[in-house]
Amino acid sequence: MRWSAIILLAIGGFGACLGAALTYRQRRQTNQPTTPEPAISVPVVIDKRDVLPLAAIKAPPTTGELAMRYARTLVGYGPRYSRPNGRPTPGWTRQLTFIAETLKQAGLKVERDTWTDRKELITFTNLSARIPGRGRERIVLACHHDTKCTTGHPTPEHNFEFVGANDGASGVALLLALAPVLRQRDNAASIELVFFDGEESLDWHWNDAARALFGSRRYVKRHRDARLLGNEPRIVAMVLLDMVGRKDLHIQEELYSTELLRRICWSAAVANGYRQQFYRRAERAADDHTPFLEVGIPAVDLIDLNGNPTWHTPYDTLDNMSATSLQQVADVVLTMLPAVEQAYVTEPR
Ligand SMILES: [Zn+2]
Repeated sequence: MRWSAIILLAIGGFGACLGAALTYRQRRQTNQPTTPEPAISVPVVIDKRDVLPLAAIKAPPTTGELAMRYARTLVGYGPRYSRPNGRPTPGWTRQLTFIAETLKQAGLKVERDTWTDRKELITFTNLSARIPGRGRERIVLACHHDTKCTTGHPTPEHNFEFVGANDGASGVALLLALAPVLRQRDNAASIELVFFDGEESLDWHWNDAARALFGSRRYVKRHRDARLLGNEPRIVAMVLLDMVGRKDLHIQEELYSTELLRRICWSAAVANGYRQQFYRRAERAADDHTPFLEVGIPAVDLIDLNGNPTWHTPYDTLDNMSATSLQQVADVVLTMLPAVEQAYVTEPR
């Protein structure tokens, strides 16, 4: 190699480092979540002209309205997060009961995983329910049920009344509304609905998820441990719904997500006529799918974070949500599923 090439490489390398550092600082300033996890591949935007020929599958027309009703109930419970030393908010406790009862009414058996984080001394609870499929493999369809804690922060502007309508309730509500629909479906793999606790960062800022993603990290670790012991069916893919009900819906192309799943998501949006609501912008967002990606499980995050003016503000209320947006995301999820099964389910064949 010639010296000029080596010098060019050195300059290029320095520029890249500087660029990464600047991006990182800017993200911290704008409070955007980041995860510089080396296990996750470098993101590349998909080619949106490359659309898979998926057939649109519409959810029952009342799905959005039903999800909106569920969201109203959850928001009515007030803030919904757990706190140190066994003092969750009343809304957190009531929400868990509501989720479990609604899943039971849909004919599903609910698993409750409760644990106390030793460092934070906070007791968290994940809920899950499996919808049987033809094979034992699983597709996880998930959301987070906790809301951001907006009290006790040192900076006054981080303390305000917050009900987490879109950021929290929308994902929970849509999964609950989809549960009976998915039960009716001929599933190739079993579908596991998972409601994670502790997604939100305890620090106001994300801090590289140092104090966030408690539920999803716990879930992935338990899954890996169970797999090592032998009889646990494999998770072949994971689809995450987070902030999916805003009136002016825009699900970004979340760039940590597995490329093929992003293509499937985009193609499902196109099949349903939702180009305006999906993938106009692309940006990374660390979320409950990243612990799955870190252990090699393909995952995609359907999230409306980039440019969302109500995120972590007092304006994240029901007024800023719509049944139409929830219905559109329901359509996209149902349209994605056959393609996800086709791509990732290996049994039975
Ligand atoms: Zn949040």
